[in-house]
Amino acid sequence: MSEDDRLTREGAKGLILDSSALYCGKDLPTEHELIISPGVALELERHGMKERLELLLATRIKVLSPDKTALAKVMEVSRKSGDSRRLSATDKEILALALDLGYELVTDDYSVQNVASILRIPCRGLDQRGISRVIVWESRCVGCGKRFPAETEECDICGSSTKTTIKKSQKRSAAK
Ligand SMILES: [Zn+2]
Repeated sequence: MSEDDRLTREGAKGLILDSSALYCGKDLPTEHELIISPGVALELERHGMKERLELLLATRIKVLSPDKTALAKVMEVSRKSGDSRRLSATDKEILALALDLGYELVTDDYSVQNVASILRIPCRGLDQRGISRVIVWESRCVGCGKRFPAETEECDICGSSTKTTIKKSQKRSAAK
C-alpha cells in the first residue's frame, strides 16, 4: 500500500460511482477518492464517453475490480432480496467494491440502493438522499398471476413469463 493509499483509507472516504453518476455531466465531488469498476468503464465506452473516461482516468478516477468474496456476498444477498434479476453484472461489481472498501456508493438505481441498504453500505443518490425502506421482491406470472420466488422467470402452471413485483416493503432499521 502506498503512502497515498494509506492516507485515503484513513482520511477522507472514497466514493464508488455507477455509470449514471458519470453520465449526468454534474461536477464530481472533489474531496473523495473516486472508484469505478471495469464494467462501469466499459459502459461509458459503449455510450460514446471514451474521451471523458480517459480524461477522468488520467486525473481523478481509479478502476478497481471487486474482491471475489465480496462479490459472492452481494450475489447471495441480492438473490435473497429478489434484486438479483434487476442487477447487471456491473451493478454487482460496484456493490462488491463498496462492500470491500467500505466506501460510499453513488447510484440512482433502486435495486442497487436496496441491496446496499441490506448490506449496510452507505449509499447516496445523485439527487436524493439514500432510501429509507428496504424492498423484498417476488415474481408474479403475467398470465395466471401465480406468485413465485423472485428468481423464477417462467410460470410452471401456464408457461408465461413473470415480472418482479414488491412482496414487502419495510422501514430500514437505523444504520450503525
Ligand atoms: Zn402462470
